[in-house]
Amino acid sequence: MASVVPDADDDQVDESEPVVCEDLVAEGSDAKPNIDFATVPGYNNVRLDQSLLPPPPMDYIPPKDQKQPDFMSAPVISEETARQALLEYAAQQCCWGKGSAEKLTFKQLQSSTSYHYVLETFTEERSTKWDYDPFHGQHVDGPEFGPAPGPWDISATFKEFFKNETQHHEVPHTAYVKDCHKCNARGYVRCGKCHGRGRVKCGSCHGSGRKRVYRKGEHRVVSCSRCHGRGKRSCMRCGGDGRVKCPVCKSHCRLRWYIKLTINWMNNIGEHIVEKTELPDILISQAAGTMGFEDTQPRVIPIARFPVPEINDASARLVGSHQFPNRRIHMQHHIIRMVPVTQCFCQLKEKDMKYFVYGLESRVHAPEYPDKCCWGCTIL
Ligand SMILES: [Zn+2]
Ligand SMILES: [Zn+2]
Ligand SMILES: [Zn+2]
Repeated sequence: MASVVPDADDDQVDESEPVVCEDLVAEGSDAKPNIDFATVPGYNNVRLDQSLLPPPPMDYIPPKDQKQPDFMSAPVISEETARQALLEYAAQQCCWGKGSAEKLTFKQLQSSTSYHYVLETFTEERSTKWDYDPFHGQHVDGPEFGPAPGPWDISATFKEFFKNETQHHEVPHTAYVKDCHKCNARGYVRCGKCHGRGRVKCGSCHGSGRKRVYRKGEHRVVSCSRCHGRGKRSCMRCGGDGRVKCPVCKSHCRLRWYIKLTINWMNNIGEHIVEKTELPDILISQAAGTMGFEDTQPRVIPIARFPVPEINDASARLVGSHQFPNRRIHMQHHIIRMVPVTQCFCQLKEKDMKYFVYGLESRVHAPEYPDKCCWGCTIL
């Protein structure tokens, strides 16, 4: 529904003015098209709102020789790398003197591996709705050109696996032309500003045509300069016509209706992190690791023989939950990333402290640094 944008001035409707286009539909009225649409075989439940069309069942038979690839071994950060990462990290902090960083004494470095399991399922969803555009004589692909193909028979290709994408298609042979429901095929609606009168009360003099002004030391009544004393002005919105172009058919009086198919390709992601230290899990998902396992299949089978049982459980749970009865599954992909984590136990000024070095890029997580010295940073 088109909303009426008020003009910058405060002109008001003049009730005394006659309505010049009484027969037109009011601009702000909410006209809903009648749903007496042509029945299209295969599209019985199509409405004005989007309605989902589940894909026809497709029996997926997994290949017999689907083997689980071998797992790679976990990476480990050496003590020397961990030490160097801490020293570099400390040196980068704005208030930490290099001397302070060097005063650290390492007591113990404890290496472990964190696991990041990610399952991606690439799905396609199709929905339809009745839609229209103004009819200005363009080609109308109606049922006389043949039966409409089923919603899942219309061919469409996505650009890339595992990337979200939306496409809209007109369902062939479903179009037909109908009078505009908004303006009843008049092409115009009654102006929402002057309510079809073409003229409005002058906002400057409130319709009196005169104004009180203070000039040369005295109050005077003068003719309103804005409306030249008439008290009325031509409506700015409709230019005095009392009517405006129909916003629905854009003055073409008729609409071309058709069934619009919307296709959504979606990448659905499930993940699980196994992290045994106090390092926040979110940091593991952001850090670089080595690929311990990777597989892409139309349907993956849950990982069952990984040496970390929690990963096997997570894989079974996530693969089981990635069922999409209303969508078609195109491809699945799952990986196990292994991220090295080193807990560094050390001492500074006779106090015990613990830091983390993690990821192949040797990131540092050091929340235990004491003494904040300036805005946004900490000091040793
Ligand atoms: Zn008007
Ligand atoms: Zn005026
Ligand atoms: Zn119209």
